[in-house]
Amino acid sequence: MAHRPYLITNIQEISKYITLTESEKNALLGNPSPPFSVTEYYAGLMEATLDCPIRRQCIPTTAEKSVCTYEFSDPLFEKNYKPAPRLVHRYPNRVLLLASQRCAVYCRHCFRRYFTDSNIQGISDSDLSQAVKYIKKDPRIQEVLISGGDPLMLHEAKLKTILTAIGKARDDIIIRIGTRVPVVFPSRVKEMINTLTSAPRPVWIVTQFNHPKEITPESSEAIDLLIKNSIPVLNQSVLLQDINDSVSTLAELCQGLVSIKVKPYYIFQGDLAAGTSHFRVPIQKTLRLQQQLRREVSGIAMPEFAVDLPDGGGKIPLTHGFIQKIRENEIVCRSQEGIEYTYPNEGENK
Ligand SMILES: *Cc1c(COP(=O)(O)O)cnc(C)c1O
Ligand code: SF4
Repeated sequence: MAHRPYLITNIQEISKYITLTESEKNALLGNPSPPFSVTEYYAGLMEATLDCPIRRQCIPTTAEKSVCTYEFSDPLFEKNYKPAPRLVHRYPNRVLLLASQRCAVYCRHCFRRYFTDSNIQGISDSDLSQAVKYIKKDPRIQEVLISGGDPLMLHEAKLKTILTAIGKARDDIIIRIGTRVPVVFPSRVKEMINTLTSAPRPVWIVTQFNHPKEITPESSEAIDLLIKNSIPVLNQSVLLQDINDSVSTLAELCQGLVSIKVKPYYIFQGDLAAGTSHFRVPIQKTLRLQQQLRREVSGIAMPEFAVDLPDGGGKIPLTHGFIQKIRENEIVCRSQEGIEYTYPNEGENK
């Protein structure tokens, strides 16, 4: 398939924006080569410096090849919770539909890399109808999260089919779409707005701003378009080492989000995805940032700090009841179901 002109997918094109380091070149030319795509818009936000928060989120380096013993390609064990081909049912009242394998920008910290870029087609009609059948059968399900990949990178007609099928599965269903498109490809929101408003049931959008530099006139305008069309927008950030792991950056990000009417929803401790240890913030530091941030921002600007436990333990807030012990090498957590799980304590001197 021919690439759209606004997606940069190779070394030659990205070299027009920045001078690549040896590590970045080696990573891009690697075999197998990593999933790579950046929009012209997002590349245009990059600065020449190596520590640019935009550059570090989208340009691969050879650090991705270092895999720790406790990292996995599917860190949340989603494969264990699949009642239908594209459906993950981990929590009783909500399911996750993996609708798209494609993203505008492949985030270097992404945990769903085992899934993205393997095939650009999106969910098939038969997988969609199996998912709908499952949702119809289980009355506990109140909400369907459509994710992937990025659902707003699907063809309009495909997304419309999905929204219609899910929206009609039950007359009380709520739809949540997880997408980075408002942040990395804001002009696409305008192309998709009619599809989004055509859904027969309420649609909420959860996006992913990770740094205040991503709040630009373009991304703010994309958010505004969603809100003017009665689509509420929430934000999930990932804590990323040397990108947003300071209280001043997080405060600016959360305050900036509230000013564009986006509610900061979660801040996630990095998942144990293969080749992402260079992005992970030591958990002790995360706990400290949480305390400090609450002193800096109001309640509406304060996201919930959370971790998705390895081995399918599920999401927990990083609060006292859930964190049981902090040991030298690991922290012991209690899942929502009351089961103990451990998360590595990577220390602050790595
Ligand atoms: C994160 C997640 C959800 C949604 O959880 P919320 O706490 O409601 O945001 C649902 N299903 C799966 C599999 C998830 O990973
Ligand atoms: S947009 Fe989401 S699914 Fe796609 S690479 Fe980024 S974090 Fe992963």
